[in-house]
Amino acid sequence: MTTSAQARPSDPHGVQADPHGVRTAPQRLSVLGATGSIGESTLDLVQRNTERFEVVALSACRNAARLAELARTHRAKIAVIGDPAQFAELKDLLSGSGTRAACGPEALIEAASEPTDCTMAAIVGAAGLAPTFAAARQGGRIALANKECLVSAGEVFLKEIAASGAELIPVDSEHSAAFQALAGSDPKALERIVLTASGGPFRTWDIERLSRAVPEEALQHPNWRMGRKISIDSATMMNKGLEVIEAFHLFPVTHEQIDIVVHPQSVVHCLVFYSDGSVLAQLGPPDMRSPISYALSWPTRMRTPVERLDLVKLGSLTFEAPDEVRFPAVRVAREALARGGAAPCILNAANEEAVAAYLDKRIGFLDIATKVAATIEAAESRGMIVDLASLGDVLAADSESRKLAQSLL
Ligand code: NAD
Ligand code: MG
Repeated sequence: MTTSAQARPSDPHGVQADPHGVRTAPQRLSVLGATGSIGESTLDLVQRNTERFEVVALSACRNAARLAELARTHRAKIAVIGDPAQFAELKDLLSGSGTRAACGPEALIEAASEPTDCTMAAIVGAAGLAPTFAAARQGGRIALANKECLVSAGEVFLKEIAASGAELIPVDSEHSAAFQALAGSDPKALERIVLTASGGPFRTWDIERLSRAVPEEALQHPNWRMGRKISIDSATMMNKGLEVIEAFHLFPVTHEQIDIVVHPQSVVHCLVFYSDGSVLAQLGPPDMRSPISYALSWPTRMRTPVERLDLVKLGSLTFEAPDEVRFPAVRVAREALARGGAAPCILNAANEEAVAAYLDKRIGFLDIATKVAATIEAAESRGMIVDLASLGDVLAADSESRKLAQSLL
């Protein structure tokens, strides 16, 4: 990956930095998941810097009207909709625009394979795996928001990146922060990485109240505006578990070297501890346009409209230990990482199914982590925790785990 100075010393994923750091031609950019929270934030930055970007492909799952609007605004070459029922509307809305309309998973992979300088991989969930792999294969930069590529497909995805010579730059705020705090450092001097967590909307709730928490409450994140799935993951703190797995694959650390600290203000995004006692942290307002801009413009920086931090106004930043009794999801995720093989993929698939069931009010809030843990146990007893060698293996494990999770829900 791109952490040229920071990549695991033993692995081949070091990616060549652009030694000059200055682009002359506009950057050809595709945004997979253009209508989502990350996709919209990315295109907001593009719109403020039109001379820097040339939009190649945009994709969405169902919202044809918004996709067409974005494609027209950004003069995209291709717009792909996932849902066949929306294709006629998309074609209609794009007629005469110069944007080619396409539909379905195959068309999405084809569009993701179009040559670009950068792909923003911002589809939510395992649905983002195949298109992000396709984007990686064409060899440009992958600005990675879709954490599932690292959680479900870790080594397989990194191998793909290394083979194609693509650059991998993290978008997740904590990982972008670590990437920034690691820049130019000696990987041997790295002691630990501390990911911060806001604690979500239920940080101060007791177990009894958590057992009654409804999706409308869980979706109210105190600091970040995000998609529904990741908002629920933030409430259960599974998001932090997924992020530990993400950090493990991105940076030269063991899982014991990745810690979590609850920081309700979401201003410090990550801290890197070095062997001389120094700690480097990255701070910024909770606005994804900051880490997105960094992934788009690294190794340079891009001006963004994010609110500037006012430390005096903030007054204090606080930190707490995470509570694994009320929020067991982090422990479940760590155990899956320690088990290795398909376990993180099973974890992710089971969690996607459990979150969907919770959003449909088929299970309670506390059942999410319990069902995920039960799915992993059941998968283990069925001999499903095997090594995954290819994207095909990952997709098969994902699909089998979903069926198993559904049978337990
Ligand atoms: P979102 O739900 O707001 O948007 C998801 C996008 O993916 C939409 O464009 C949707 O149309 C598309 N999509 C959904 N299902 C699809 C399918 N089956 N096929 C094709 N496209 C599909 O999600 P988001 O909050 O923008 O998150 C996107 C990714 O970024 C997730 O993996 C999330 O974990 C990660 N992430 C998000 C944030 C954030 O602040 N939102 C922060 C860090 C990481
Ligand atoms: Mg994050």
